[in-house]
Amino acid sequence: MKIALVNGDGIGREVIPQAVRVLDHYAPDTEYFEVEIGYGKWEKCGIGCDDRDIESLREADSILFGAITTPPDPNYKSVMLKIRKELDLYANLRPVHGEGFNIMVVRENSEGLYSGIEEMGEERSTTLRVVTSKASERIARCACKILLKDFKNGTLTIGNKANVMKSDVLFRDTCIRVADEMGVPYRTAYIDALTFDAIHNPQKYDVIVTTNLFGDILSDALGHLVGGLGMLPSANIGEEHSVFEPVHGSAPDIAGKGIANPIAAIRSAGMLLEHNGIRCHDEIEDAIKNVISSGMRTPDLGGTADTISFCDALINKLE
Ligand code: ATP
Repeated sequence: MKIALVNGDGIGREVIPQAVRVLDHYAPDTEYFEVEIGYGKWEKCGIGCDDRDIESLREADSILFGAITTPPDPNYKSVMLKIRKELDLYANLRPVHGEGFNIMVVRENSEGLYSGIEEMGEERSTTLRVVTSKASERIARCACKILLKDFKNGTLTIGNKANVMKSDVLFRDTCIRVADEMGVPYRTAYIDALTFDAIHNPQKYDVIVTTNLFGDILSDALGHLVGGLGMLPSANIGEEHSVFEPVHGSAPDIAGKGIANPIAAIRSAGMLLEHNGIRCHDEIEDAIKNVISSGMRTPDLGGTADTISFCDALINKLE
């Protein structure tokens, strides 16, 4: 397996090397190459990610990505958005599971309010929310496939705001059509009420499919159920490429202190391995549970452990 590593900035540099230890444990023959992308590169070259970087990323079977600090430049274009677009990573998968619940948020990753079609004005700024039947159908199929494969007797929830936005009428109705075609039971729910209910009754939900920004907010909010952002992994999947990254950002407030929670990055590495056909999910989850219940936790979970000691204990359990 050939893996591109993008440590990025801030705590990305601290958690990715720990996640690599887990990759090494399951796939010791993996070949790695680093791609320098992010704030550091922007400071040196005035650009966070150039075309050569994208070409390097294309060489990998999968990419493990840390986090990137947004440079203070009003014209700066998001590196992650560029990578998602260039590699056509249309599905963002964000699993959230804890005691008694297991939710997969499937977020459309290529359009919606992240279309990049916007205008900045003194008195009026606009961002165009684009929803196409093609992208909606593609993400609906992806969500239905995950439901059929991993959630026996599950229900697809279609998160939308079709009562207010015409673009979401198209999204909702396309998802309903695909679910009907694929024989998947579904319900529709308005995203605001859905977010509230999923936080209070997470056991009711299986796979939730929704548009780009709603999926981002929903999955961050669900992070509350499992101890915060340091716990949440994600995958960006396309037909040919895949990028795995913790949901959290570069956390400048704790960067350099060695106390970042590595679990989100480790779970992202687990998703990468599973995506490449290496079974490890249950073992990694058991090991995380064991280490946490032994009392070893990073400060965001109320403990005093540092990033490396937590990972030492985790690798110990895996071994
Ligand atoms: P960025 O600009 O890169 O998005 P941010 O600080 O705005 O950074 P996050 O990095 O997601 O956003 O951090 C939000 C909060 O969550 C911060 O207080 C941060 O310290 C905390 N946090 C995020 N990830 C972790 C982690 N892995 N371990 C501990 N705390 C974390």
